[in-house]
Amino acid sequence: MEKPAYPFIIPDIPRTSEWIPVYERVFETGIYANFGPISRSLETSLAARYAVSGYEAVTCCSATQGLLAALLARFDAGMNIALPNFTFAATYHAIRLAGLNPVPVDIDADTLEISIESLAEAMGKMTLHGVVSVRPFGLVRDQSHLIAFCRDRRLPLTFDAAASLGGASLPKFGSDDGEVEVFSLHATKVFAIGEGGVILAPADAAVEIRKKLNFGFEADRRYSTGTNGKMDELHAAIALSQLGRVDEMQQAREEIAHRYDSFFASVPGARTLQGVTRGSGWTMYPVVFEGQSADEIVRKAQGRGIETRRYYWPSVSNAVGASLPTPVSLEVSNRVSNQIVCFPVYSANAGNLRDGLFEALGGLFA
Ligand SMILES: *Cc1c(COP(=O)(O)O)cnc(C)c1O
Repeated sequence: MEKPAYPFIIPDIPRTSEWIPVYERVFETGIYANFGPISRSLETSLAARYAVSGYEAVTCCSATQGLLAALLARFDAGMNIALPNFTFAATYHAIRLAGLNPVPVDIDADTLEISIESLAEAMGKMTLHGVVSVRPFGLVRDQSHLIAFCRDRRLPLTFDAAASLGGASLPKFGSDDGEVEVFSLHATKVFAIGEGGVILAPADAAVEIRKKLNFGFEADRRYSTGTNGKMDELHAAIALSQLGRVDEMQQAREEIAHRYDSFFASVPGARTLQGVTRGSGWTMYPVVFEGQSADEIVRKAQGRGIETRRYYWPSVSNAVGASLPTPVSLEVSNRVSNQIVCFPVYSANAGNLRDGLFEALGGLFA
């Protein structure tokens, strides 16, 4: 296939000249992995920037492994964990790999986040032991109602906030209720390094999560179920360099998101997300099309050189099929999943592609 004029993703990763000097330190310390000094320095900076006090940042090799470790640290095999039926495959994988049973529940049509009503209904039908909520597309909004709901029912809450790391104006993650937030540093995210992740967790939970990322080893070498999900010092060096650039990248992306907001406001049947917190990581711009075929829009966009993608499609229940328990209706998530198309959002490195993108978009819904 021909390379699209407006590709869906243009990664923005620091050049080698920026991070080699940071990495050079390993030849003095002799430490290349296992939470070495570069990782620890990154963790301190990330916690100060993104988390409330009392929380720690734990580096890991991907959000998938970070979620897995966070779940292993909090649950025993066989427990039932609710997740929104509208999410990326990795949310489901992490629950499964932790030996837990994923229970999909429906989403709220306006926020595309897990529906508290649907969650409450599922709890009336079966025992749930925990919840993984998603910050869809990395877009942060106030989920304090869900946090309170889970606290009151003693349900440990983990956020798949994979794409959420963004600008300095983001409110700090974490609260006294102890929810854990997991982020990705994958090349496709705003805070992009290649592969990598970070977990924000209360300090005591962070200790347990680190053990799970390191084969489940205890100090005396006994072990429980764990994984190797550690970040190495090389990726930590890239991430430390990226930290200084992320504000500018996020702002460039947020500007594009605002241009999409105005553009789609006048497109009939196009619904966009309202009330997204300033500073959120904009990796893509999701639009729910009511009464138009998503495939048709993908095809028409392609004809104008714009590469789009359908996320999160198919829904978890449609992707995985009959093996899942389905205590509640999944109607909203299945419908939204079929109607949504995501448009490209670029960082500051995309030059004048940004203006051309909106010209190309102009004729798409004429
Ligand atoms: C990107 C993404 C992931 C996976 O992150 P990795 O670091 O690639 O493992 C998980 N969940 C969501 C919602 C994502 O967007």
